[in-house]
Amino acid sequence: MPLVPIARGDGVWLYDFDGRRYLDAISSWWVNLFGHANPHINAALIAQLTELEHVMLAGFTHAPVIELSEKLSALTSGKLGHCFYASDGASAVEIALKMSFHFWRNSGCSKKTGFVSLEHSYHGETLGALSVTDVALFKDVYAPLLRHSAQVPSPDWRNAKDGESHRACAERSAHALERYLEQHHSETAALIVEPLVQGAAGMAMHDAHYLRLARDACDRYDVHLIADEIMIGCGRSGTFFAHEQAGITPDFLCLSKGITGGYLPLSVVMTSDDVYAAFYDDSVARGFLHSHSYTGNALACRAALATLEIFERDSVLERNRHKAAYLTRKAQRLVAHPRVKHFRHTGMIWAFDIDSTDPAFARNFYQAALEQELLLRPIGNTVYFMPPYVIAENEMDMLIDRTLDIIDALSA
Ligand SMILES: *Cc1c(COP(=O)(O)O)cnc(C)c1O
Repeated sequence: MPLVPIARGDGVWLYDFDGRRYLDAISSWWVNLFGHANPHINAALIAQLTELEHVMLAGFTHAPVIELSEKLSALTSGKLGHCFYASDGASAVEIALKMSFHFWRNSGCSKKTGFVSLEHSYHGETLGALSVTDVALFKDVYAPLLRHSAQVPSPDWRNAKDGESHRACAERSAHALERYLEQHHSETAALIVEPLVQGAAGMAMHDAHYLRLARDACDRYDVHLIADEIMIGCGRSGTFFAHEQAGITPDFLCLSKGITGGYLPLSVVMTSDDVYAAFYDDSVARGFLHSHSYTGNALACRAALATLEIFERDSVLERNRHKAAYLTRKAQRLVAHPRVKHFRHTGMIWAFDIDSTDPAFARNFYQAALEQELLLRPIGNTVYFMPPYVIAENEMDMLIDRTLDIIDALSA
């Protein structure tokens, strides 16, 4: 497929050099929150550029990283009061895995070296992150390089048996986790999950009850809970953090993607006083050694602060609830379409599966969408919408109308 060279962006739109436009309905791979070339984030970055672009964080610090850590910690009501920075999602996952293992080692439990994740989970593609990922397409080739991790059944409600509710499906999966931990807790450091929506699995959604049961099982078996909110965090789930919907707090929270509004690479692992205390020591070997050159980059932190300011200034979570209701209402024509199965929705994500046996379905759909001015990239037979939060009603109308046209054209 030919590349699409993009000249500029404006709000939900991307423009190529021939003046054609594309509605970025997947937020440029799940990172953009408030549109391309957002005036508020642009202005904040320009101001930051004139003051400080970057300084190493070892022994030094700067205002944007301090302010950002305080704001993020306040968003967890201070429960996750410590922030460790890196540059991308996979690094955040590496950090959470290393920190969990090292916590247990410092606590005299050096046998707790294993990790457990959900079937079809995606946590990034560096070797450590890939080892807890369960997507064959990304993993199979590199299998000889990877450390073994265990997978337990996904609470994806599409796995519900006939007549089983989403909640009952979540309970059944949680029982399987419980059985796993019962046998393996003494060698398990942490469970890592994508709360509410497993993105790369094809927007697989589950009942929040699963997270409560998983939190409870992890507590009983002394296993950390790592919430990978790299995709679902920052309002995408409908609440600022997805785990809030279950009323739980993870031991580690990984954020990236939308944290800078989709502007610059930045990730953060947030953790509790308890975890922090296990590393606070004069001995270097007990300390957590992990660094990246651009850790806590000042420009990226400034973009993140500007993003958080927009959340407050525009009551974004409240406004998104109205937008989500509008799009869901409009999407009823999709729900009713004979080729559409498992229509699902969480916060600002909508997904459905297309009944198609065409092995090139995703590619053909992508191509047809581009011709209709839409950037949509199905995962297998799953079509999903994950638009920037600034999408307007007429743009949502266009998204639904043209998606229906594409489905009909591809079925003809
Ligand atoms: C994208 C993603 C990652 C990896 O982030 P990168 O910045 O691409 O390394 C990890 N976990 C989840 C849930 C993601 O969606």
